[in-house]
Amino acid sequence: MEQTRVARLGQKCLVLLAFTLAIVSCKEEDKTPVESVEVIEPQELYEFGFKLDDYIVKRDTIKKGDSFGEILQRNQIDYSKIFQIAEKTKDSFDIRRLQVGKPYTLLCSNDSLQQPKCFIYQPTKTDYVVINFQDSIHAYSSTKPIKYVEKEVSGIIESNISESFAKQGKSVLLAYKMSDIYAWTIDFSRLQKNDKFKVVYTEKYIDDTIYAGIDNIKAAYFLHNNEPFYAFEFETDTIKGLKDYFSEDAKNLRRAFLKAPVEYKRISSRFNLNRRIALYGNRVRPHKGTDFAASVGTPIRATANGTVIESAKRGGNGNYVKVKHNSTYTTQYLHMSKRKSKVGDFVKQGDVIGYVGMTGNTSGPHVCYRFWKNGKQVDPFKQKLPEAEPISDSLKTEYLKFIKPLKTQLDGIEFISPIEEDQILDIQTISENTITYTN
Ligand SMILES: [Zn+2]
Repeated sequence: MEQTRVARLGQKCLVLLAFTLAIVSCKEEDKTPVESVEVIEPQELYEFGFKLDDYIVKRDTIKKGDSFGEILQRNQIDYSKIFQIAEKTKDSFDIRRLQVGKPYTLLCSNDSLQQPKCFIYQPTKTDYVVINFQDSIHAYSSTKPIKYVEKEVSGIIESNISESFAKQGKSVLLAYKMSDIYAWTIDFSRLQKNDKFKVVYTEKYIDDTIYAGIDNIKAAYFLHNNEPFYAFEFETDTIKGLKDYFSEDAKNLRRAFLKAPVEYKRISSRFNLNRRIALYGNRVRPHKGTDFAASVGTPIRATANGTVIESAKRGGNGNYVKVKHNSTYTTQYLHMSKRKSKVGDFVKQGDVIGYVGMTGNTSGPHVCYRFWKNGKQVDPFKQKLPEAEPISDSLKTEYLKFIKPLKTQLDGIEFISPIEEDQILDIQTISENTITYTN
């Protein structure tokens, strides 16, 4: 049932995709070619730099007990020749390094003898080693060409997006990238029914046909609570290759602070000035931090650039570090198992300053993250925090020019009308549709 639904959606998406791509490819002669995903059999098929038509191609994977010699012997190469090949290629490739389960290809003469001429081993999806013995014996390593294909997708949120996030693995990568881009603008755990999104993104293909994952999101649109949020990727420093996502009016979507100091399993306790605890006779015991539960030893990162002003082990705080970011903001990280920064250290955003533990007053491993604004502890999730690295005035004009065609492209993507039940999409089904694994 679910399979059929997904398959049908898949078809619709392909139709939609083909349709939108057709429009785009007509009106734009952009530097990025827009191509259909469907693979058209080329007239001459090349792989590993060889014209495959010239050979009988035998493909297999390295089996347990296989060796280079045995594979060639099975294919009628005599022992002295094998020895010669091994000797002559030993400086370029160690034939003992063949790993069980990795694919290999034999290019054999296109006649009744089917004599092997080339042995090609693929240690990874993109890398391959050619041992060529058709004329002079030689070996070399190379990499398959990677093609980037631009794709578009749109969807309307049905429900329970957070659940589909949690349940999905790799296939929801696009959704994760989206939630990353919008981390500070949209709470993806509180999406509304009928929230809508559109994405322009690129996928990687090896040798034109083998899907190798999502490359990146170029532009996105999210309608949340009837409020539109645009995001465009833009390179702010071509030398360092720094890229960020900005809104349609050139505001950085990232804030100057990371959302959390750890990769956490869950927020075990939020900032709450009216917290009541039964243990204390149900009296108000405000919690002026946010507790991120994580395993002991998980690195704790400074959420923004700053200077360490306290690093100590004291009372209920246990091992803790306090970082002053500027005259307005200070953050503190409690209950560490180990501190990794000392007073006076200048730390950059994302630098490891300690590790999750349960020192001080705590019942389980977590980091209690405290956030001061103008000397007062506040809930960081409820702050209008400063944007990270705004676009410089000199780049702003260029940026606005750059996003113009992308915005037109986004605006031109249509939503699938949610009239029929099976047309309603959520991110989960979208990601199922667009991702095709080929081996
Ligand atoms: Zn706490």
